[in-house]
Amino acid sequence: MKSQTIHPVLGVGFGPANLSLAVALEERGRAETAHFIERSAGFQWQREQLLSGADIQNNPFRDLAMPRNPASPHTFVKYLASRGSLTDYLHLNAKFPLRREYADYLTWVADAFREQVDYGRSAVGLSLVQGDDGGEVFRVETDDGGAYLARTVSVGTGRSPRVPPAFHRGLGPRVFHSTRYLSSIEQLGDRPLRVAVVGASQSAIEIILDLLARPQVRQVVSIHRSIGFRLKDTSPYSRRVFLPEFVDYFHPLSTAKKRRLRGELRSINYAACDQDVIDRLAGVQHEYQLTGSDRLLMKPFSEVVLSREQGQTQRLVLRDVNHLTEESVDADAVILATGFRDFGSEQGDEPYHPLLEGIAHRLPLDEEGVPVVSRDYSIELKSQADSPQPLRVYLNGLCEASHGMGDAGALAMLSVRATDIADSLQRNQAHDREELLAFGTSP
Ligand SMILES: Cc1cc2nc3c(=O)[nH]c(=O)nc-3n(C[C@H](O)[C@H](O)[C@H](O)COP(=O)(O)OP(=O)(O)OC[C@H]3O[C@@H](n4cnc5c(N)ncnc54)[C@H](O)[C@@H]3O)c2cc1C
Repeated sequence: MKSQTIHPVLGVGFGPANLSLAVALEERGRAETAHFIERSAGFQWQREQLLSGADIQNNPFRDLAMPRNPASPHTFVKYLASRGSLTDYLHLNAKFPLRREYADYLTWVADAFREQVDYGRSAVGLSLVQGDDGGEVFRVETDDGGAYLARTVSVGTGRSPRVPPAFHRGLGPRVFHSTRYLSSIEQLGDRPLRVAVVGASQSAIEIILDLLARPQVRQVVSIHRSIGFRLKDTSPYSRRVFLPEFVDYFHPLSTAKKRRLRGELRSINYAACDQDVIDRLAGVQHEYQLTGSDRLLMKPFSEVVLSREQGQTQRLVLRDVNHLTEESVDADAVILATGFRDFGSEQGDEPYHPLLEGIAHRLPLDEEGVPVVSRDYSIELKSQADSPQPLRVYLNGLCEASHGMGDAGALAMLSVRATDIADSLQRNQAHDREELLAFGTSP
């Protein structure tokens, strides 16, 4: 009987994070050591929010490879040149490229790794089993009943949507997170809509602008706990969080100090927006005021305490966070632009990625019950007598609590993080060369 392939590295999720790892491994001549599974049918980047006019929020040259290797064939510049659009791009003098253009760049790179990815397969379970040689290996189960074996796993799934408590039991075609925006809004068709958007994030403001450009949207109700859309902290001093030196500084701090620092730096990435979209929305709002239109309704200092179906609409009960007064708002659709869940011990956090549930008994935990993630983004599992080789799971893009704000899925840190992970994989695999040679074809 043919034994099942044991992949030296199995990447779960093939978004920018694991794509960047694939690029880093290829550069070292180790491309074939890694295989990836991806839930989507093909490569995509934040497809549900590829909105007209939306641009990226990072320097485009801090791409999948450039900060590590400017000569890489997988840089944004090489992509532009390959399309013959480098001069056009430079001529445009745009501060940031459109998100559509950057998504196309990422897809172009992903195409080069097509053979290493199984698309349309979602990991649903992770456990430890005995490999042919008697040592322990990871087993990753997929939603179609398949399974992969691997010596190391790189979890690059992105974070789970954050859903406020009032909506925990009510998600559906009418109430959905921003990660489902485009497909859900299009499913609601052309009938007149009153739409509530919860949150004051960059996603919230982009979605509001997009809704206001749709003729069937009668009214948008913008609901947020804060005073309104606040400006993102873009000071180059604050943005040092997106430098590797900051990760070196942050990682060894105690949990309490990390929490304090993250709170202080929050407006770099959370509940804050870029100047251009704030200006656009303020302009649109002013015009509505001049013309007596009620198309945009602001509900600042408000949190949703209850959401329930009321016939064909959704009734939201809002509470003013300062006066504690309540009012109701009815909407045909409710969009939660409420961000993503972190891994940690704070309210609303997940202690670890749900995929790690099957190996939870082997995770080393800190005093707050959160897995200890090393500087190289790995969690080294607690060993057993019959598994002398330490087993590691890498968290690729999920380490904001342990590694700082630069790890909040930001593209700017991708290539640097991929370098750290690739270095670590190479170091650890060198200990186990014989097993490294044992890999074969994918399942
Ligand atoms: C609308 C939007 C715009 C953004 N724009 C920017 C920006 O301009 N600049 C910036 O720095 N950051 C931006 N971000 C932050 C964003 O996190 C990063 O851009 C980037 O997407 C992170 O890459 P990732 O690979 O970690 O996660 P993701 O992009 O989320 O990719 C994860 C992949 O894993 C797959 N997956 C998930 N679970 C499984 C599973 N169980 N099995 C198999 N596959 C799975 C998903 O289908 C997905 O393809 C944006 C975020 C959003 C939501």
